[in-house]
Amino acid sequence: MIAIVGGGICGLSIGWRLAQAGRAVTVFERGEAGMAATWASAGMLAAQAEAEHGEEALLPLALASRDLWPGFAAELAAATGIDVDYRAEGTLVVAVDRDEREALEQRYDYLRGLGLPVEWLTGAEARSREPALARAVVGALFSAADHQVDNRRVASALRAAFLKAGGTLREHAAVESIVTAGGRATGAAVNPARAFGPALVDNFWTDQWLYWLGPILGATIAALVYNYVLIPKSQQPPS
Ligand SMILES: Cc1cc2nc3c(=O)[nH]c(=O)nc-3n(C[C@H](O)[C@H](O)[C@H](O)COP(=O)(O)OP(=O)(O)OC[C@H]3O[C@@H](n4cnc5c(N)ncnc54)[C@H](O)[C@@H]3O)c2cc1C
Repeated sequence: MIAIVGGGICGLSIGWRLAQAGRAVTVFERGEAGMAATWASAGMLAAQAEAEHGEEALLPLALASRDLWPGFAAELAAATGIDVDYRAEGTLVVAVDRDEREALEQRYDYLRGLGLPVEWLTGAEARSREPALARAVVGALFSAADHQVDNRRVASALRAAFLKAGGTLREHAAVESIVTAGGRATGAAVNPARAFGPALVDNFWTDQWLYWLGPILGATIAALVYNYVLIPKSQQPPS
């Protein structure tokens, strides 16, 4: 079984793909799936408009990821019937005074320098594109390729798609620790009582015998060593 800790957009997306590929996958979520940062976000797919100095190496990945969204949204809708409201009108970043306009102009120059197709709009041009903008807007950066989704619908759709593909979701199940043995995450705990509970809840009995036989064998060997090796030595009279 593959265990994923956290049922946000990342955990559910990965879980969905794994379940589609026929893997047995369980997402453990300490609260309710999709209700943390995924719920709080604004759903902006603004890889261009939000490109930052120092992150130039990351930019191609962000742009490629953004460009996967139309297909991803359509696939989610086909799988679940939930429309995630993918909107392709583009993204406006606005300035409402002279200082903001200067900062935004610098940002525009930086993005153009990266070869990104952004446009500069005057306040009037921005308002003609988006009539709800305030008259105070004095300039805007327009990024036609940056789009938007309804992130809360994405969360609901991913949850549904994951379950429909055969994934198991355990909500209100915080993962407190990841137990490793020999370097890999195995879930192993050399404590039969500790291992029995999760096995029972998950109905996952692989290697369960090990957790019972291991401690019993270990304790038996320790007792024999103590009795026949250590005790006789300690009982010898001091020389
Ligand atoms: C206010 C705000 C606005 C944002 N706006 C945007 C935006 O417009 N566009 C954009 O692309 N990004 C935006 N982001 C960022 C985006 O929301 C995150 O990058 C994204 O949601 C991260 O997804 P995630 O699955 O990693 O995290 P989350 O959605 O936070 O999911 C992680 C889950 O793991 C669970 N968890 C944690 N620890 C454990 C544990 N030990 N056991 C079990 N479960 C555990 C949590 O309960 C949570 O549900 C915004 C973020 C915020 C906060």
